[in-house]
Amino acid sequence: MDTSTPHPALPSVATSSVLPTDASTRGLSAWADIDLDAISDNVAQLARLAGDADVMAVIKGDAYGHGLAPVARAALAGGATYLAIAQLSEALAARAAGITAPVLTWLFPPGADLSAAIRADLTLSAGAPWALTEIAAAAREVGSTARIHIKADTGLGRGGAWADDLAEVLLHAARLEAEGVVDVEGIFSHFACADAPGHPTVQAQQDTFVAVLADAQRAGLRPRLRHLSNSAATLTNPSARFDMVRPGVSIYGLSPVPDIGGPTHFGLREAMRVTARLINVKASAAGQGVSYGHQYTTKGETRLGLVPLGYADGIPRHAGNVGPVLADGRRLTVAGRVCMDQFVLDLGPDSTAVAGDEVVLIGREADGEPTAQDWAAAIDTINYEIVTRLGARVPRRYLGAC
Ligand SMILES: *Cc1c(COP(=O)(O)O)cnc(C)c1O
Repeated sequence: MDTSTPHPALPSVATSSVLPTDASTRGLSAWADIDLDAISDNVAQLARLAGDADVMAVIKGDAYGHGLAPVARAALAGGATYLAIAQLSEALAARAAGITAPVLTWLFPPGADLSAAIRADLTLSAGAPWALTEIAAAAREVGSTARIHIKADTGLGRGGAWADDLAEVLLHAARLEAEGVVDVEGIFSHFACADAPGHPTVQAQQDTFVAVLADAQRAGLRPRLRHLSNSAATLTNPSARFDMVRPGVSIYGLSPVPDIGGPTHFGLREAMRVTARLINVKASAAGQGVSYGHQYTTKGETRLGLVPLGYADGIPRHAGNVGPVLADGRRLTVAGRVCMDQFVLDLGPDSTAVAGDEVVLIGREADGEPTAQDWAAAIDTINYEIVTRLGARVPRRYLGAC
């Protein structure tokens, strides 16, 4: 196989099934309601907080599990002027879904079909010398100017160029811009510890970013969109706004800094609610082991409820005995192990719950429901991972005006 030939068909991106807004949930094991008005309102709130800076809404990872195209439209309705999607294949999927707004994409390997990206009018990140060389070759092949944002590593220690590589990218970009091969519309970088606002790397990275902008200027570049702030910086650090902020998790109504404040504190509201139906409720004797390995034992006579969601749906197996669920009007925790397709709740001896009743796994802080943040705290991860991992098998139902 000739490895220099770009892959002819970029992989299509897996998406979840979608229920019509007015669909009955009768007979469904589980579903996720996505409140698009919440997303629009959250973006509008972030835009207010960002002052004069524009908002680039980050919708990578199938919009953090909320669904790429509907979220893109809701974010634009809320005032976002740019979209950010890490993986090139997903950015192309957004175009295929009819999203025409500016889209920045930054994760693609050597040999990726950048001609297709340029024809799709995607903005490409140049974060390494090879990337800029391949972007330029693709722009010449297509016969148009590639719009690019140079990505500097100011101390995250992940993507982007630093030191000699960055100097090379800046000089090469200036030459290519003079030839009309690229338009250096932007320069960006990403924080390592913005969720710890007092961390010394925050100011250090900001200072480095300012120095990079001066280097770019000296190289002859005049980028119009300089951007550095993720959600945590947008919410806690007005001095890092530059021309545009780049929030992700906060547009979904989740706090990147739960120790500082939850969504309500920042004027945001959670967009995802995950509901399931009990599919079996039965009386149990005291001392009964529950689920694989009997990691839970009933304390007295009780009633057990079976929830038809498991780790195949993204319910973390680590949430055994700790994951929070609202059932029968009360906050319960998963009883015993989470299995591939199901887990059990100990409903208590007085429960009146019956098979078919709804239980809420993920909802809103303000409504007293368990939240993605509660699940994250229970298994020592971040709310990002909880919503993003929700499986494609859980159908999404879009609510709201968008
Ligand atoms: C994911 C990501 C963001 C958004 O981060 P949040 O913490 O979700 O706001 C911004 N910029 C880059 C480069 C990212 O990878």
